[in-house]
Amino acid sequence: MKNTTKAIHTPYQRRDAYDALQMPVYHTLAYEFDDADVMADAFCGRTDAPDYSRVLNPTVTHFEQRIASLTGAKEVSAFTSGMAAISAMLFSAASAGKNIISSRHLFGNTYLLLTRTMARYGVEARLTDLTDPKAVKALVDDNTCCIFLESVTNPQTEVADVRVLADIAHSHGIPLIADTTMIPFTQFDGRALGLDFQVVSTTKYVSGGATSLGGVIIDYGNFPEISTFIKKDSVFNFGGYMTPHAAYMQTLGLETLDVRYERQAASALKLARMLVQTPGVVTVGYPGLESHPQHKVFKEQYGDAAGAMLTFDLESEDACKSFINGLKLIHRATNLFDNRTLAIHPASTIFGPLTQEQRDAMDVKDTTIRLSVGLEDPEDLFADIIQALEQ
Ligand SMILES: *Cc1c(COP(=O)(O)O)cnc(C)c1O
Repeated sequence: MKNTTKAIHTPYQRRDAYDALQMPVYHTLAYEFDDADVMADAFCGRTDAPDYSRVLNPTVTHFEQRIASLTGAKEVSAFTSGMAAISAMLFSAASAGKNIISSRHLFGNTYLLLTRTMARYGVEARLTDLTDPKAVKALVDDNTCCIFLESVTNPQTEVADVRVLADIAHSHGIPLIADTTMIPFTQFDGRALGLDFQVVSTTKYVSGGATSLGGVIIDYGNFPEISTFIKKDSVFNFGGYMTPHAAYMQTLGLETLDVRYERQAASALKLARMLVQTPGVVTVGYPGLESHPQHKVFKEQYGDAAGAMLTFDLESEDACKSFINGLKLIHRATNLFDNRTLAIHPASTIFGPLTQEQRDAMDVKDTTIRLSVGLEDPEDLFADIIQALEQ
């Protein structure tokens, strides 16, 4: 079956007592057992019967199984947010004395997780230019525990060559881990690209209408020690397992994911092409444009649809602020891949608490606007952009 069919027809693990067609929300914390031995088996993991909803819940399990069926993963683990999934992943891969090689263009909280939080536990972050294989190779040593990349960096829209990074990681016997939030996992084959784990903020494309927070680890089973740590230590001891209500909403989101993505990516490409021609717009960042420096590598890895996030630069920070203030249809809000189109000035908001030096090191410019393109008609969106630019 193709993904659009699987997204809707993945069978439930057990038949529902009422034959409910949609997965019920099992809003229960504990589960009853017939006798002491059955109970002991469940608690010791000898059966897959749930015992306590911090570690296993049927609605969450079903959400995980649908993603496993869509990606061919050996194991999927769902968490309360993207950051919960990323921290569970990186704490599972690393330990004191180890180092993680990653990009200097990381998502804000991931950057702080690596450079501030994990640093306290003796894990070193080695941030570099992941589009430069020589720079990456030079940083690997015996204490390197993984290479961690983001599929498309935000807001720089940089795309690393995953196959090249996979070769470097695997020649040292370490996993390649990617945050693939920017391109839905239904659009490409992560295993074929050489990824060992994907982490995804399902808050974004999967939830769809911005209904709920969530995150998943998609595990291809190549590093069993790390898999065990994720399932046992991270889920049990950190306690960031997804809630059943979020799993229900995000399962609904999965059913329409590809349809929404194709529409949003097509509108984003249309807008990017129109913005290139628009006076006052200095540059446009979108991997779907032939002029994007990593257009070719993007297409080879993730396909023709290039996502719903685009950036563009105006002449000054003041011009960006007037533009944001002038918007009438597009919302002034953070978040990505909502059904509504959202605009933000990253330098003064998401990256506002950082110093100018930190922003410069991350290539976050004062002149950049980030747009997350929704499901509205692209002509209406473009009209709003033009009237806001005129102001
Ligand atoms: C939003 C985002 C996250 C964090 O996800 P939350 O669900 O907000 O915790 C991590 N990585 C990327 C690339 C994101 O866009």
